[in-house]
This record gives sequence, structure tokens and C-alpha cells, in this order.
Amino acid sequence: LADEFLKAEPVIKSIEEAGFEAYFVGGSVRDTILGLPIHDVDIATSAYPEEIKEIFNKTVDTGIQHGTVMVLDHGEGYEITTFRTESTYQDFRRPDHVEFVRSLEEDLKRRDFTINALAMTHEGRIIDLFDGLQDLENHIIRAVGEADERFNEDALRMMRAIRFASQLDFSIEEKTTIALKKHASLLKKIAIERIHIEFVKLLLGKNPKTGLQHFMTADLARYCPEFDNYMSELTNMAYLDSIKLSSEAAAWSLVIHVLKVSESDISHFLVAWKSSNELISNVQVAIRALNSILDKTIDRELMYETGLELLLTANEIATIFNRNIPIEILESDYEQLPIKSKKEMLVNGGQLIKEVGIQPGEKLGRILATLEHQVLMEKIPNESTQLLKLAERLASELD
Ligand code: ATP
Ligand code: MG
Repeated sequence: LADEFLKAEPVIKSIEEAGFEAYFVGGSVRDTILGLPIHDVDIATSAYPEEIKEIFNKTVDTGIQHGTVMVLDHGEGYEITTFRTESTYQDFRRPDHVEFVRSLEEDLKRRDFTINALAMTHEGRIIDLFDGLQDLENHIIRAVGEADERFNEDALRMMRAIRFASQLDFSIEEKTTIALKKHASLLKKIAIERIHIEFVKLLLGKNPKTGLQHFMTADLARYCPEFDNYMSELTNMAYLDSIKLSSEAAAWSLVIHVLKVSESDISHFLVAWKSSNELISNVQVAIRALNSILDKTIDRELMYETGLELLLTANEIATIFNRNIPIEILESDYEQLPIKSKKEMLVNGGQLIKEVGIQPGEKLGRILATLEHQVLMEKIPNESTQLLKLAERLASELD
């Protein structure tokens, strides 16, 4: 058993000693069987939240309304969730209410896919009520029970199906695929933030092509923000063979590039997807750099403004089209910039005010920007006496 499970063993044992059942469930069980690294271990139990809180000294109510209590043990936190069923989904999004139950089977039944409906005891024995092990072995995503019903209950599961197909490089079982097509329009009911998360996981997965193919053939794309105007470009994207992406900014930069969204429309497009301001700004910067890499006009000013991280992001997209700069060259060109940011300048505004007597204001800003540019272009060394002298000259010229 992986360390993460061994560490949590005493927690499970304490629950069992109090007379309840407790199991590892969800992604960690799936990933460990696949031999993948695991992130967080989720524990499910027959004990009710109040009962869990009686067993352990230190707990935090992280999601008590869904039955989740965080138990703190030896500096680690473990999410313990009471077995539950979810009933009467009226708006295709969230269960009306959760009902706590004592039966593991009931809990596993409400999970999305067979590979996510496995439970594991602290000794490592797998409980497999829906042939999830066989599906894991055959690399298949299959809804638990009737796919039709399951997508009807919660339409986000459709996005989860295609993101797992990409992340794990699995295929989607036939009835589940048919249900995707049938219920695609229910995606309209799902909060865009949640679709966003799944779509990014899809793009960052091992086989985005598989996920994107389902995204298009099931017509899920049509029910996502902005995408209905770009169906043919998205289809092109679904045929790209070499998508390999390592960040959310890279994922969206690829989308923006393939869909040919103009620089002035990037913000509007990403706002429609409920993106953070930070993401929007990173994509704008990366796209500018990407265009300059593609048309071979990249220069040191743009490298400086972009920064290494987003340069590598842009280059990642260029790589998909075999038009990248070799990474060693990009990195060494960047390393050779005399300064990497304003902060590395050996004079600052305060000094110019005190030592050259320039008043704070627009003129000061212009002088600082000129100094920065001169240093970047190696017209002058980054050295304070020389910079102060130049500042003095600029100040008198500007008077
Ligand atoms: P990841 O590696 O992305 O965390 P995961 O399988 O752990 O994958 P989570 O979103 O963390 O996914 O959910 C944990 C478990 O909860 C899933 O394995 C699944 O059993 C269940 N689950 C999560 N979301 C749903 C859903 N929308 N419908 C049904 N079951 C779900
Ligand atoms: Mg998880």
C-alpha cells in the first residue's frame, strides 16, 4: 500500500474500533490500482458526522452539510464522508438533499463511473460491486447503473466522463457514449466554473484527442460558453495529434490560438468562461509571445515583457504545430537578458527623487522606463552611477 494509505490506517482503525465501517474510496483507490501517483485519500464511513466528531479530538467541519468532516491526525487532514445517497435531482445539478445511510453499497451506487466506485479496506482488500476492476483493466469509462439516468441526475458527469477518458487514456463504453449524445444539452444547467475545471483537466490529460473527439461527437461543445460559434475550429482541434500541455494558461492559449480568437476578444471570451483575471492576463501575454514565435519576430523586449514562464507556455503551443524554438535556445536567450525585471534595476524612483532631484510624477515614470529600456538593450550597464548620470541628462532634456 502507498504511504498515503498507510498514514491514514490508524484513522480508519479508530473508526472501526468505535463499531463503524470505514473505507478508502474514489480517485485514490482507482489511481493506486492503475499504478498512478495518488493525491488525496478520501475515506467513506458508516458513522454519521456527529459520531466521527466524538471519535476524534481534532476535527473541522469542512463540508458538514454533505457529511464531510476533516479529521486532523499527526499534522495531516483526512476528509471523512458519511455514506450517503442523493435523491430527487430537480435541476440536473445538485441533489435536493443528501441522505446519510449506513450501507456502503448505497454510497457506491450513487458514484459516477464504475472505476470511481471501488472501495478499499485498510488492509488493501478491494470491494468491487460494479465490476470496476474489470473496467479498469480494460480501460473503460462506464456509468454506474443506467448511464441515461446518471447524466440526467447530474449533467456534470458528462464532462467528467470525457475528462477521465483523456486523463486516463480510456475509452467510453457504448451505452455511456450514447447517453452523452442524448443528454448533451443538459450541460446548459451546469455552473460554468465547474465545466471550466473539467475542460481544463481534459486538455491537460494524457490523451486530449480522445476527450476532444467525444466532446465534439456528443455535441457537448455546443453547450459551452462561446464555443457554438467555433464548431469547425474545435473539430480541427480534436484532430490534433500532439497536444501536450502543462498548465491552465497553456490549455487556454491553445484554444484561443486554434479558434483564432483575436487579441482584443480574448478577455471577453475568457470572461464568458468565468476565468480569473490572472488567467486572462497570462493568456493574453502568452498569445502575444506565441504569435511572435510563430512569425519569428520574437525579440528581447518581448522576451523581457513575457517572462520565462509564459515564454515556455507559448513555446509549448508552438511545439504542437512543430514551430517552436528549441527549448535550450529559448532558455539561454532569456538567461542572457541583462535584467529579468524592473526589480533588478540598480536605481529606483526614490533615488532619482533624492539624488537627482526629479519630482515624483509622469516625468519620473518616463525617465525610469527609459533607463530600464537602455539597460535591457545593453546601451548602458546596470550600474548606479552611470544610471544616475543618464537620469540627470534625461531630466534636463525633458525640462
Ligand atoms: P481526481 O483525481 O480528479 O480527484 P476523483 O475520482 O478523486 O478524481 P473527485 O472529484 O475528487 O474525483 O471525486 C471523488 C469521488 O467522488 C469520485 O471518484 C466519485 O466516486 C465521486 N464523485 C465525484 N463527483 C461525482 C459526481 N458528479 N457524480 C457522482 N459521483 C461523483
Ligand atoms: Mg479526488
